[in-house]
Amino acid sequence: MIELNARIPAGPLERKWDRHRFEMKLVNPANKRKYNIIVVGTGLGGGAAAATLGELGYNVQCFCFQDSPRRAHSIAAQGGINAAKNYQNDGDSVYRLFYDTIKGGDFRAREANVYRLAEISVNIIDQCVAQGVPFAREYGGLLANRSFGGAQVSRTFYARGQTGQQLLLGAYQALERQIAAGTVKMFPRTEMLDLVVVDGKARGIVVRDLVTGEVRSHVADAVVLGTGGYGNVFYLSTNAKGSNATAIWRAHKRGAAFANPCFTQIHPTCIPVSGEYQSKLTLMSESLRNDGRVWVPVAAGDKRAAGDIPENERDYFLERKYPSFGNLAPRDIASRGAKEVCDEGRGVGESGLGVYLDFADAIKRLGEQVIRERYGNLFEMYQRITDENPYDVPMRIYPAVHYTMGGLWVDYNLMSTIDGLHVIGEANFSDHGANRLGASALMQGLADGYFVLPNTIGDYLAANRPEKLDASHPAFRSAELNVSERTRRLLDTDGKRTVDSFHRELGRIMWDHCGMSRNEGGLRQALEMIPRLREEFWRDVNVPGSHEHLNQALEKAGRVADFMELAELMCVDALHRAESCGGHFREESQTSDGEALRDDERYTYVAAWEYQGDGAQPLLNREPLVFENVKLSQRSYK
Ligand SMILES: Cc1cc2nc3c(=O)[nH]c(=O)nc-3n(C[C@H](O)[C@H](O)[C@H](O)COP(=O)(O)OP(=O)(O)OC[C@H]3O[C@@H](n4cnc5c(N)ncnc54)[C@H](O)[C@@H]3O)c2cc1C
Repeated sequence: MIELNARIPAGPLERKWDRHRFEMKLVNPANKRKYNIIVVGTGLGGGAAAATLGELGYNVQCFCFQDSPRRAHSIAAQGGINAAKNYQNDGDSVYRLFYDTIKGGDFRAREANVYRLAEISVNIIDQCVAQGVPFAREYGGLLANRSFGGAQVSRTFYARGQTGQQLLLGAYQALERQIAAGTVKMFPRTEMLDLVVVDGKARGIVVRDLVTGEVRSHVADAVVLGTGGYGNVFYLSTNAKGSNATAIWRAHKRGAAFANPCFTQIHPTCIPVSGEYQSKLTLMSESLRNDGRVWVPVAAGDKRAAGDIPENERDYFLERKYPSFGNLAPRDIASRGAKEVCDEGRGVGESGLGVYLDFADAIKRLGEQVIRERYGNLFEMYQRITDENPYDVPMRIYPAVHYTMGGLWVDYNLMSTIDGLHVIGEANFSDHGANRLGASALMQGLADGYFVLPNTIGDYLAANRPEKLDASHPAFRSAELNVSERTRRLLDTDGKRTVDSFHRELGRIMWDHCGMSRNEGGLRQALEMIPRLREEFWRDVNVPGSHEHLNQALEKAGRVADFMELAELMCVDALHRAESCGGHFREESQTSDGEALRDDERYTYVAAWEYQGDGAQPLLNREPLVFENVKLSQRSYK
């Protein structure tokens, strides 16, 4: 059993972070350059962390698999970033953001972490404005805000539908500055394939140079993973095609507990699947629900064009069911609402798996120009993909896999169950419980990278003073051998099926049995199917080419092999949690009106799974969640 010590500081909620920062040990400025820190990832989490650690004076080695740090998946984020600035004077506060986030996550996140996130949110905006991030502004020059799901205030800062891109450019510039200053050494097109643990401490990584195929080690005093989420386990998702779980999965196999792996977010507003051979889904930002109204025909099987369906024959089901939040109901709830009406045969579009997102009223009220200013690039993207003009006809949307709330378990210092291994951004499980509110991932990634980790990692280094070590240590040699052996095995299998065909099949199993709703029978079935598919993969996969040069089939094969193992853990976790909460909807556990029914008595804990060896059942460790400031209640958005 792993000892799960969340290291939550004592004292009142609003004093914890301040007090903790005072009590943590510091590294003297002149000593910082003596410490080597590895940061894997250059998204908003990793990019912000590497830049900040470099600025503080540490010696940083930073890695990403793309050809440039600024191609990290964060660049795709569209809608915005939350912060409790209360510029709108509409009743927002740090406490309200904290409360909305805890409630939005269905009371399955740590109070102390979430409060700190809400507190730091205001600093993030200042930091990004200082970097020159071009947030949208009101006519008078103040930063503008819009609303996102699960909140009744407007607290989302945005840069058109390209907020992630603009924030990442800010972090990237800061990172480039440190690269030029020599504090950060950047390794693009380099994939981490193993974590090296010496005497219980993370001391480095083994990587493969994706251009030359060279396998080598990098040594450090601490390792940070900001490697993003694992939604691509479902094959079809809104994530970048390259996003994968390899770094965190390999770290899990070296001893890092994996928390709440089954907590997946299915986003309600994505362009519906159009065919068998599609490899990617496209998000239509949640911000569109500020002005778009979601509806389906009242009658099942109604195939008339949207414009031919009169008002009284339309069902604005979110407004009907959740009058207080309406179209801005949280994602898990809006997604289930869409699934429900489609299951009733009221879905639109050719497949029947779609609902309308209609801007006609907003255009009438505000004029097309205003809508164009707010969402122009999203409308254009929609039109390019579907060949339909959303200024004239409603968009068609359907839920799709989007984000993973689960990830490596971390304590309040963002350290995993392996000493010295810190995990930030979407790769950790920390702040969103069972459902993330829109615009809160960017907030968390930047809070972790700019503000939390740079403080807490110093405390670890000062308290532990890791011994000097080099890559000739047997632990590095053995990890390098493992990596080379696995690469050779993938290439030598010489089977008949492509990596993609395995990935697609795995994704289908996960979507059908561990997707928007889950039940015991389906999960048990998935737990039989996945090991069979994995066995077939290792027997019949075909990976062309060799390992001494750029070989994307080989990269993909390694990632899919890891997804095959992670998928099983996700189903094990989903099966054990016989309650519904947030994005985890167990059909056996619902209220009489079909809402998620939590079981606080039995499941108010974080499930942190411990790897026990290939083929062995993972071990469940529980971190009880203690709520001292909010009262657990049935989530209601009515
Ligand atoms: C389409 C879309 C729109 C979104 N819009 C919003 C939004 O408006 N607001 C919001 O709050 N959130 C949004 N999100 C969620 C948000 O974008 C992500 O959660 C967040 O950007 C993740 O950042 P990250 O730094 O944790 O990881 P990422 O940005 O995914 O970066 C991962 C990094 O790790 C590197 N990496 C991974 N594995 C390895 C490895 N093995 N070796 C070396 N390097 C590795 C990659 O190269 C990359 O640099 C959106 C998500 C999607 C899919």
